[in-house]
Amino acid sequence: MADDRATARAPSGTHDVLWPESTRWEALIARFADQVERAGYGLAHTPIFEDVRVFRRGIGEGSDVVGKEMYEFEDRGGRTLALRPEGTAPMVRAFVQHRPPVPWKAWYATPAFRYERPQAGRYRQHHQLGVEALGPADPDLDVEVVALADGTFRSVGLGDFELKLNSMGDGNCRPAYVERLREYLSAHRDALCPEHAERLDANPLRALDCKRPQCREVTEGAPRLIDHLCDACAAHFARVREGLEALGVPYRLDHRLVRGFDYYTRTTFEFASAALDAAQNGIGGGGRYDGLVEMLGGPPTPGIGFGIGIERLLLACDAEGVFPVDPPPLDAFVVDVTGGGVARDVTARLRAAGLRADRAFDGRSMKAQLKAADRSGARVALLVGADEADSGTVLLKPLRGDGDQHQVPVDGVVEAVRATRPPDGAPSAPVPTRKDLS
Ligand SMILES: [Zn+2]
Ligand SMILES: [Zn+2]
Repeated sequence: MADDRATARAPSGTHDVLWPESTRWEALIARFADQVERAGYGLAHTPIFEDVRVFRRGIGEGSDVVGKEMYEFEDRGGRTLALRPEGTAPMVRAFVQHRPPVPWKAWYATPAFRYERPQAGRYRQHHQLGVEALGPADPDLDVEVVALADGTFRSVGLGDFELKLNSMGDGNCRPAYVERLREYLSAHRDALCPEHAERLDANPLRALDCKRPQCREVTEGAPRLIDHLCDACAAHFARVREGLEALGVPYRLDHRLVRGFDYYTRTTFEFASAALDAAQNGIGGGGRYDGLVEMLGGPPTPGIGFGIGIERLLLACDAEGVFPVDPPPLDAFVVDVTGGGVARDVTARLRAAGLRADRAFDGRSMKAQLKAADRSGARVALLVGADEADSGTVLLKPLRGDGDQHQVPVDGVVEAVRATRPPDGAPSAPVPTRKDLS
């Protein structure tokens, strides 16, 4: 018995999204799609699993995501596959495979999988919205991409968040900087946290974004990458900053911002919600990855993108009290106590006319059907008793707002229901909340 109960639960670290919460997801994805499609991005779907080498090469073996958190498995044909832990590497793999003309601008909405310790705002399957833009090295593209992410947050009403911006340099200037940083940190090795004292030789950059006070204190005085960019990287970064300022996108330079994946170059950015707990406040981020296409076997092609975590974004919305999406109410609920034939035909007629209509099933009593009509949130009930069935009419009974009940011929039911809709722009009648429904 215990086993049966276990199989009837979602796996640890995953969650279901059911109506009416799911209407927020629909609204968010629709809003995101509208915004990025206006900027020329088209939807791309890629498989949720890939050859594991896509992630090993793209993200890097040394990262936690690949080394510790990836869902890796062998299929029945002996191939080693992995569930995607993030959105970018699969999109770049698809680009390398299909070679669409550049600039190639694509967006996605996808689950991502990481074997992490489950906690609030951290899931083993979470969901991301993102874009990737491949081809141009132009810093104005960086500005476009960062502004789209910023615009996504603002479009749902978020305001209490910060955009952190940095440049990771490139293969020309970063190695010399990393050496300089390693020298500096080596001189302070004993003051670093144990993890980063140990990893200093492998990757000194990691100490920069460590949250532990020891590392923070040491890195406060560390050399900063933006002070050691080559001329080309410095010019690129200056143009990005100029563009963000021109578009009124506020940002803060953050020299500690070094993203964990090997593929990032130059512009890198992260959005943090001030309304969420510091440990889980990252609501989105991204950056340029000019070497990734080559790493995955394609021709040298610059690229930039971002990913936004849907669950985190919605948590931030809850924390700020914004983006409450009401499910659209039903226009009509048909209550038929004459066998259900009229309910079947009238709901079909209403739906075909673009109205939202539902009905009761199983020949329940008038009282039970009326209760169901009320709980459905419908604006009107259409009642069918023996008299109505005989005369080819329905009794239109308003459930919300004003209006008297009146008899309507079945042939005129679409117009009659439509006439009860509030004028465009008027607030619709309140619909039941999740609490009312439970
Ligand atoms: Zn540390
Ligand atoms: Zn450089």
